[in-house]
Formats: sequence, C-alpha cells, structure tokens
Amino acid sequence: MQKKRRATQSSQKARMRVVTCLIFTLLLSATSLYALDVKVPDIMHPMKNPKMYSKTMRCPDCGMMVNMWARTRHSFSNHEGTFETCSIRCLADISAKAGEQPENAMVALYTEPEKMVPANEVFYVVGSSAKGTMTMKSKIAFADQVSAEKFVAQYGGTVQGFSATLKMASMEVDKMRAKIQNNRLKKGKISKPTHSSSCALCGMPPANYPANRSQLTTADGKHLHFCSSKCLVNYIDGHKSSMTPKATSWVTVYPDGDYEYAKGLYFVVGSSVMGPMGPEAVPFRKKSAAEALVAKQGGKVIRWSELSPAAILSSSGSLCPRNRSKANTLPNLFF
Ligand SMILES: [Zn+2]
Ligand SMILES: [Zn+2]
Repeated sequence: MQKKRRATQSSQKARMRVVTCLIFTLLLSATSLYALDVKVPDIMHPMKNPKMYSKTMRCPDCGMMVNMWARTRHSFSNHEGTFETCSIRCLADISAKAGEQPENAMVALYTEPEKMVPANEVFYVVGSSAKGTMTMKSKIAFADQVSAEKFVAQYGGTVQGFSATLKMASMEVDKMRAKIQNNRLKKGKISKPTHSSSCALCGMPPANYPANRSQLTTADGKHLHFCSSKCLVNYIDGHKSSMTPKATSWVTVYPDGDYEYAKGLYFVVGSSVMGPMGPEAVPFRKKSAAEALVAKQGGKVIRWSELSPAAILSSSGSLCPRNRSKANTLPNLFF
C-alpha cells in the first residue's frame, strides 16, 4: 500500500517537473520574441559631451557623472543635506543608508533633462527599452500621462507614480549590488589587487586584507591599492596637489567585503576596531550599523568629507577644538 502511494507521489512529482519545464520554456521563448520585437528609443543616454545640467559633478552615492545621466537625475533632501543623484536608484540607496525618507524629491524629465519637476507630480515609465541608470529596469519620468503612455506604446513598460517607483527601486538596491560590482570591475572603475600588489603607502599586500583594503582610481584610470582605509586617507592627504576631480576613492565595506564608492558611506573612527595599520576608519553602508558599532566599541560616525589622518588617530573619534583647525580634512576634490 505504502509502495503504491510512494509510486503515485513520485509520478506526480515527475509530471509537475515536466509542466514546470514547459511553462519555463514558453516564458523564455515569449521573452525572446519580445526582445526581438522591442524598439529602443533614439535618445542618447548616456549623453556624449553632456551639457552642464547640474553643478553636482558626481552622484554622491555611486560616483557616476550626474550630467551624463541627466535624463534620470533626481534631487532630494534629508536631515544630512540636499543631494543630487544620477537616478532614483541612488536616491533610494542614500535614503536606506541614512534610514530616512526623502523629502522634496525632484526629477528631470527624460525628454527634457534640463527641467526638474516635483517627483510626485510625474508619470514614471518603468521597464521600457530605454537604458536604465544603475538598474536593469529603467525608470524614466514624463510630465503628463499622455506622453508616458505614448512612450509605453512604442517602447514598452508600465506607467506608475513616484511612491511605487521608489518602492521598486528600494527593493532592487541589494539585489543589484553584485552586478554593479562586476560592472565596475569590467569597466575598469575598480580592480582587484593581485598577490603582487602592494599598498601604495605602506607596502603591505592589500590582497592579504580583504576586509580592510581600499583603492584610488586616478584621473588616467590607474588603480592604486591600499591595505586599509587609513592608508588611503593618508595617501590622499599627502598628495593633494597632484589629485584631480577625476580621481575616485573606493573602500571595502565592513563587514561585507565589497568595494564601494567612498563618499556614499559612513565611517566609524576612534573605535577599538583595528585595521592592518592600527586605528582605522571603518566603512559602513548604513548609518544605523555604524552607530551600532560605536555603541559597542566606541568612537564616532563621520562622513568621507570629514575624514583626515588626525580624525582616524583621534582616540575618541572627535577632535578637540584646538586640533580641529589643524586637522586637514580631505579636499572636496576627492569625491
Ligand atoms: Zn548614482
Ligand atoms: Zn597600507
């Protein structure tokens, strides 16, 4: 009896597998057919030689040039200030990192990137064949429903409002991290140190410190590797005159171990967590995670623009007023 029941169950499972396979194959072929049919809008994005749509040079979250991605740029504010990002993805990421809802969100119109309008008044087209910014699913804004629907009729996608689009962007952020890191490696924005790489400041091998290493991409695309955030900060401090705004800094997120654009992170200085070179600036994506470390191990949470060799060495993490004026914080050039 039991044998018979088992045989029935296994044949049911086999049938389920065949049905699942068939559904999957049908879906795949439908997707491929759609991919063959779909038209791509004849709008340059990213734009070559972009105009100065924005005074913000780099997206404060991902480091991309905001003017090159002007058609999807957003601006908003929270308790830390006002930000202009390359996309709704980076607005969502900054908001999640800070643990705050964005206020006064504005978005550029896809077809008129010089115009910024309140985000809760626009019609987003999501998932069309228009190229996405920091996402596989593009999210572009139109001033009125008729234009948005006209675009959908030609290039696919669906029309929705700001809050639904922000929710979608927020849900994609963590899922897309590995892909973004791979793209950065492929495009040469970052590189992995080899076993023969040595820290440009102290000479130790960064490959041996996967939880602490950092890197600087110079204006001419060279990668300088460092064993720690501390060595990166000290190197920049000692080479201010030879740095240009095109240089970008990347640090290893604690404790995840991925490289991230340094300016978008929170740093704990003055804690009891040590790096390969002793006192360290410990980088976190989320402000709440940085604050949790401070509660356990002491120190203080600061942003990239406040980092300096003196701030890292400070045992309390906060400089006394007498030393604050002497401390050289990182110049704004180094985004
Ligand atoms: Zn961005
Ligand atoms: Zn070093």
